[in-house]
Amino acid sequence: MLEAIGYWFNDRAPSPCPRPQRLVGAWDEGERAKVVAYLRAGDVLETYRGSSYCRFACGKPSAEMGHRDLTDGRFAWPEGLPHYVEAHAVRLPEHFVAHALANAPRIAPSGRRIDDEPWFAWGKAAGATIELEGWDSLGWADQRKVLAQLHAQLAADHPLFEKQVEILVGRRATDELICVLPDGRLALVRLTGAATTLFDGWDDWRPA
Ligand SMILES: [Zn+2]
Repeated sequence: MLEAIGYWFNDRAPSPCPRPQRLVGAWDEGERAKVVAYLRAGDVLETYRGSSYCRFACGKPSAEMGHRDLTDGRFAWPEGLPHYVEAHAVRLPEHFVAHALANAPRIAPSGRRIDDEPWFAWGKAAGATIELEGWDSLGWADQRKVLAQLHAQLAADHPLFEKQVEILVGRRATDELICVLPDGRLALVRLTGAATTLFDGWDDWRPA
């Protein structure tokens, strides 16, 4: 199996993937340039229809962030990963960096299966993941039902009143929802009574 690296948390689809914003760190410039070149030289593993985007919203056009997965036969990464290392000094797992710097001869991938677990575990150990244990995504029909129930309770001065909010995940045990507002802010809402806490975004996310 190929080991995944460089797959990032999506603000609108929470996952165990790390946030690159929390991985910006010090790199030896020479090593960083070598790792960027190594990442750019990967072989194409998979091609997708849609392009990626920079999680730092730095203005790099989406079309230049890639739409493919690359591999060296041992690791797999998205085509846009070298941009994060080059432009934002995002750190990568030490064992991958050592592997890239050793410049070992390529091997042909033995299959297309990708193992995410070491990547998730590394991101968590680095403090770069969002803890969402117990939260689950809702199906489309449940979302509509819950949104109707929520909107029926909102007073005109409520921050979610008449806003096109989208439910990201829900927690049945505590009857809570995490919603995203059109401006990107997050709302932690209790479904009964609609008590709400607002956060500027996931980097500000510190639930009580
Ligand atoms: Zn960028």
